[in-house]
Amino acid sequence: MEEPRREESAYDVALRQYDAVAEKLDIDPGIREMLRHPEFALEVAFPVKMDDGSVKVFKGYRVVHNTARGPGKGGIRYHPDVTFEEVKALSMWMTWKCAVVGIPYGGAKGGVTCNPLEMSKGEKERLTRRFTVEISNVIGPYTDIPGPDMFTDAQVMAWIMDTYSTQKGKFVPGVVTGKPIPLGGSLGRTPATARGLVICIREAAKELGLPLDSLRIAVQGYGNVGAHLASILEGYGCKIVGVTDIGGGCFCDAGLDPCALTAQLLETGSIDGTPGTDCLTNDELFELDCDVLVPAAVGNQITKANAGKIKAKIIAEGANGPTTPEADEILADRGVMVIPDILANAGGVTVSYFEWVQNLMNFYWTEEEIAERLERIMTESFQAVLSTAKEKGTRLREAAYNLAILRVAEAMKLRGVC
Ligand code: GLU
Repeated sequence: MEEPRREESAYDVALRQYDAVAEKLDIDPGIREMLRHPEFALEVAFPVKMDDGSVKVFKGYRVVHNTARGPGKGGIRYHPDVTFEEVKALSMWMTWKCAVVGIPYGGAKGGVTCNPLEMSKGEKERLTRRFTVEISNVIGPYTDIPGPDMFTDAQVMAWIMDTYSTQKGKFVPGVVTGKPIPLGGSLGRTPATARGLVICIREAAKELGLPLDSLRIAVQGYGNVGAHLASILEGYGCKIVGVTDIGGGCFCDAGLDPCALTAQLLETGSIDGTPGTDCLTNDELFELDCDVLVPAAVGNQITKANAGKIKAKIIAEGANGPTTPEADEILADRGVMVIPDILANAGGVTVSYFEWVQNLMNFYWTEEEIAERLERIMTESFQAVLSTAKEKGTRLREAAYNLAILRVAEAMKLRGVC
C-alpha cells in the first residue's frame, strides 16, 4: 500500500482505522457516521504570566469524542507538538480503549501546546490553573474526567482538582484521576499502564509459545511507562537489551539494569551514557535482535520506512498511535503480532476508573485489590480480542476495533436518537 503524499494527520489515521472496520460491521449507517465525529470540541487561547514578568499566550484543547457508554475520559498532555487534530484523534482512541476493556466511559482528550521542559514549576502551575478554568464548564465527575498523559503528572492533576474544587466551593476529587494518594489518588495508578502492558506481553508470549523469562525486550521511551515496564519485566527474568529516550539510547546484550538507567536519568535528564552500556540510536533500537518491541514514546514511530526491518515477534504499543496503517500491513505480512494501543496501554485508564469509583464511594482499596482487578480486566480483554481475531481471521487491532465499535454502537442504539 502506498503511503499518502500529503502528511496525514493523526485524526486521518484514526478515521482510516475506524472506517476500515466499521464499514464491515452491521451497524446503523447514521450511528456509523456519528462515530466519525467528536460530540464536542473546545479550543481555547489563554494568557499565563511567566517568571520574567512577560505574558505568554497558550492554546489548549479539550475534545469529547463520545459519551454513549459513560462520561468522557482521557488525559491532558503538555507538548510542543499538540494540535487540535492530534487531540481529536486521541479522544477517539480513548472511546475505543474504554470500550475494549469494558469500563463505563466514553472517550475524551485534552492538551496544551507548550514545552513543559522549558517551564518552571510556577509557570506550569499557573498554566494548569488557567487552563482548568477555561475548560471548567466542560469537565466534571459525571461529564468529562481528565487524567494524566505526556508530561502531565500527579502534581498537575492535584492543581486541576484544586482549581475545579475551589471554583465549585466543594471538594470534588472525582473530577480528575491520577492525583497524588493523599488527595484521593489510587494506589497502583502510577505503574498501571506498564502493568497492563506486561499482562498483554505475558499473554501474547504464551500464545506464541515464548517463555516469559527468556524474552529480549527493546523499549522506546523511558518515562512513566517505559521505566516501570523495564523494571517489572527485568523482575520476571526478561533481558532489557535496548532503551532509547529523547537524549539518546543504551544497548547491552546481556541486559540493561533499570536501576542504573533511572539513576542516569535523574542525574542527567536522559538515560544516554549509562555506565557499562553501548550507545544506541532509535533506528538501531527498532532493528534490534529482540522478541518484544515496546514503543512507549510519541506517535508515528513505526512507519513504512522501518517496519520491514523490525525483528521483534511482538510489538506492544505503550504509546498512542505509534504505528501507521501502512506499517501495520507490513508487520502483519511478516507475521509480527502487534498488540494495539487501545488494548496494550489501557491499564492506565483502567486504574483511573478504579480511582474515580473510590472517589465517588469515598472508600479506598488496597494495592492488592487494585492489582487483582487490573489483572482480571486486562487478561480477559486480551483473550477476548485474541479470540475475536482468530474467529474473524483478522489482526489484533481490527479485532479490538471490532469489539469496541460494536459496544459503543449498541449503547448509542439503546439510548436512541431524537
Ligand atoms: N493518558 C492515558 C491514556 O492515554 C490515561 C488517561 C486517563 O487515565 O484518563 O490512556
